[in-house]
Amino acid sequence: MRSPADMTVIQIDITNVCVHSCSNCTRFCGHHQQPFFMDYQTFQKAVDSLKDFPRMVGIIGGEPTLHPDFERYLEYLRKSRLAEKIATFRYPVEDMLHYIKTRLDQSHDAKTGLWSCLNAGYYKHFEVINETFHRQFLNDHDNTCLHQALLMPRKDLGIPDDIWVKKRDACFAQSSWSATITPKGAFFCEIAGALDMLFHGPGGWEIEPGWWKRTPDEFGEQLQWCELCSACLDVPQRISSDERDDITPQMYERLKKIHSPKIAKGMYVIHEPANYREEDYQGFTRGSQYIEAANHKRTSKDNRNIYPKEFFHTNFQEWKKVFLQGVAKDWVIISNNDEEANEAEGYFKNVIINPGCCYAYGNVILVNVRASSLEMLAKGIIQDNWEAWQYFPPEKIVYVDAYQVRHGLNFYECIDGIPDGSRLLIYGAGKNGKEMYARLLAYDNWEVCGWVDQNNQKLGYPIQGVDRLERRDFDYVLIAIQDRETFGILKDKMIQRGIAADRIMQVFRK
Ligand code: SF4
Ligand code: SF4
Repeated sequence: MRSPADMTVIQIDITNVCVHSCSNCTRFCGHHQQPFFMDYQTFQKAVDSLKDFPRMVGIIGGEPTLHPDFERYLEYLRKSRLAEKIATFRYPVEDMLHYIKTRLDQSHDAKTGLWSCLNAGYYKHFEVINETFHRQFLNDHDNTCLHQALLMPRKDLGIPDDIWVKKRDACFAQSSWSATITPKGAFFCEIAGALDMLFHGPGGWEIEPGWWKRTPDEFGEQLQWCELCSACLDVPQRISSDERDDITPQMYERLKKIHSPKIAKGMYVIHEPANYREEDYQGFTRGSQYIEAANHKRTSKDNRNIYPKEFFHTNFQEWKKVFLQGVAKDWVIISNNDEEANEAEGYFKNVIINPGCCYAYGNVILVNVRASSLEMLAKGIIQDNWEAWQYFPPEKIVYVDAYQVRHGLNFYECIDGIPDGSRLLIYGAGKNGKEMYARLLAYDNWEVCGWVDQNNQKLGYPIQGVDRLERRDFDYVLIAIQDRETFGILKDKMIQRGIAADRIMQVFRK
């Protein structure tokens, strides 16, 4: 067991409503007759109590994006924990898994984190989410991730005290996951907090500054919840989408007594203690094993929840009227050229784009009716001469060129694995190189320290000659050339110059 002060994350459970009812859910979703939504005052207290907590405050549920006041809560969290807004999901994302891996799952000094199953609530709050969270732990559960049985208590299984205490004190969940705050107080362990909610317990510690500095010898009464929990035991695991919970017959009675809807629906598998043999199972030893079982697949291409839903076509003369009449529900394509507008739709419908941004492609502008930058317009406050993009701050205007729209560029595959903080040198200033340069500038993960091309004299500033490679002030060279053979020749030459092979990467086209 460890003190919450030593944890990477302390969670705030803002609701236990969820679109799923996964097997062996850590929040026991599906078992509650009456779900909760944390009130604003409690949330403020929770965030304030963690002001000095130096690492990540997580917002979790259930599915937290379903909280009716979600954006107001995020604003409070952001102001309390961040010096400035985050800027994720600005450029179109063609490969979500890569983006999760290379962007949302990074940042070692994160102060905020979101746990979401990427349902429609995520799309609804897309802009604000991507201004608030350093890290996002996304899992749509359309995968083979495993959830370990949590409701097979040790006494039901006949595990004696001496063995039990050792197992409990080594619990993988408490040592690799989080403490939490629920509407009923603060808890040393997130699953203990969820059990208190499920079985109508006495609640947790007062939510006050410094509660999280308690050490294991101060956990006291809260350890009673471990007696109902099997996270630290060798018990069955089940694919989350199976939706049935693994329970003992005694737990079945306990859940029946609280009128669990999941029990009423028959969504359980009872394990007879007489048949329980510890050696038949291998309990998890670290939290990441849940998703490792799904080979880190957190979302599938079939999950269209966060892709554009609808495109309403209009022109530069009519677009304000379209907004004021409220006929468009999602994205609006503004163009006076039907061919270009259709081409844009063909591309944007298959990438993930941020409803808070304005996308510019040739003479086409794409904006979303929910963009906060267009609030003035939604309220009928119109700048007569302004075009759509003029309502947006420059950092929210994203230019996409014709090559990208027509061919796609799997940018993330090419930069996958480059550690944060690396210094990058781009080789090549053709179309690929320009696109690469523009995209990399949009990220603060890496520093572009140079850009070189053999024809630098024709191209002019900021392109430098290839002699620049000799300075060796970069960590990686990104060769922005499509042809594999040419890439191979260039790579060989660089290796001869003493650059390590694993530091030379190619822009990769689909
Ligand atoms: S998505 Fe998460 S919170 Fe929702 S039921 Fe599944 S495990 Fe529980
Ligand atoms: S046994 Fe359960 S309640 Fe106790 S620390 Fe482990 S996860 Fe938390």
